[in-house]
Amino acid sequence: MADFATPELKAYPEIPVIAFGAMADSKPYTAKPEQQQALGFPGELIDDWQQVAIAKIGELVGKYRGLRVFLDSCVKCGACTDKCHFFLGTGDPNNMPVARQELFRSVYRRYYTFAGRHFPKLVGARDLDRGVLDQWYTYFHQCSECRRCSVFCPFGIDTAEITMAAREVLDCVGVGQKYCIEIIGKVHTIGNNLGLPGPALANTLEGLEEDVEEETGVTVRYPVDEKGAEILLIPPSADFFAEPHVDGLIGYGKVFHQAGLSWTLSSYASEAANFGLFIGNYENMRKVALRIREAALDLGVKRIVFGECGHAWRVAYCFLNTLAGPFDFLDPRYPVPQHIIEVTHDLISRGALTLDPGANDERRVTFHDSCNIARASRMGNRPGGQFILPREVIRASCNHFFDMAADTIHENTFCCGGGGGLLTDDLMELRVKGALPRMEALQEVVRRHGITHMAAICAICKTQFAKVMPYYGFDMDQIISVHQLVGDAIVLGAKQ
Ligand code: SF4
Ligand code: SF4
Repeated sequence: MADFATPELKAYPEIPVIAFGAMADSKPYTAKPEQQQALGFPGELIDDWQQVAIAKIGELVGKYRGLRVFLDSCVKCGACTDKCHFFLGTGDPNNMPVARQELFRSVYRRYYTFAGRHFPKLVGARDLDRGVLDQWYTYFHQCSECRRCSVFCPFGIDTAEITMAAREVLDCVGVGQKYCIEIIGKVHTIGNNLGLPGPALANTLEGLEEDVEEETGVTVRYPVDEKGAEILLIPPSADFFAEPHVDGLIGYGKVFHQAGLSWTLSSYASEAANFGLFIGNYENMRKVALRIREAALDLGVKRIVFGECGHAWRVAYCFLNTLAGPFDFLDPRYPVPQHIIEVTHDLISRGALTLDPGANDERRVTFHDSCNIARASRMGNRPGGQFILPREVIRASCNHFFDMAADTIHENTFCCGGGGGLLTDDLMELRVKGALPRMEALQEVVRRHGITHMAAICAICKTQFAKVMPYYGFDMDQIISVHQLVGDAIVLGAKQ
């Protein structure tokens, strides 16, 4: 455990006392020169960084219309101030969404508005100096791009877009964040965030097959690089080994097995995550997405299905077709892409899976809506499907399901505290404190319904909760994959 105080869980959420500068020292490690350069960014802070940064801001507000609208339309109504989990957990006023936006907006105003150019002090416009740049690095790495604040803003101003723009500017002047930059580099060269090479992946999957066979007596396959399979599954690479993720992968395999669907993983595109989103960089996001297209073509699959990963689904659902399409070589009867929850939900609805919810009777389950799925995507091609489908899959798999408080789920959900490229140990204090609102909601449902497990469909959420739950008195294994519930409930062999 680290050297900071874990916030106390209150019976009811409280707006914290303002603590100026409370998180001013929290900043992630910067990327090494070679890591930056591998992604097309300068290795370190360049001499003319100020001119380059100002020009980049101009380019971004010209290119992304939404960004300019967000920067121009805030009326400082204050509706967003107490909606960010990082403010609620830290009390640092720079973690109020409007204040975070203002770090960027004040610079934009200085160089790109008439009033800011001529009367900067009158309109709160600031020069972009080294102190401001450092402040950007600090506080734009205290935003998980979760978009909760935008739900409560009367204008829908999305701080996540401003954070992405700020990070893009930082990268372009040579000050990237190590965690994100390093991971994107690994995907470009090896195909996944972990840097797990093909042979090691094949070995891991072989071991998984043996484990499942030993446990169930049934040969469930976990194939990789099998040409001609119908489905290409793109899971987050955490699914390949870590708890509780791997139990989700076991569940996907059982679903495909039981439904008689042929499927494969790809060693070339063995990663659903796309951290290009987190750093706001289109070129890197596209390059990561293109690996999936290339793998689908190479393997000759007919469908692409994504595993349990929140931001990956956002990128896939919102952008995959424009980043890497057209996908006219796939089976037009299925959406491109599909989520594993959609596949499982459809199979359950059609009676193609036999589930015994009693197999999960020792579990009393709640569900954490992951931000990127809740606020930036859909499932099942219907409004609210991203809330309905996972819950229906859970209810079909276990007998004891209870939701957390209404203002903490669905589009109001709280971030786990580790999203948006913040899932790194150098930000542990931020991650623990940012998890506070979700932990309070969990505590309440534990008290009311004796909840034993919280299920999620996001690799980042699962990793984050496994790490931070012990800080709040929960066990790390109380976070589980939805497809673990499915996998444990599925009756293998009942249908072919
Ligand atoms: S996007 Fe999320 S993390 Fe960022 S300011 Fe808004 S509520 Fe906070
Ligand atoms: S809710 Fe919207 S308009 Fe109001 S202060 Fe926040 S960002 Fe500005």
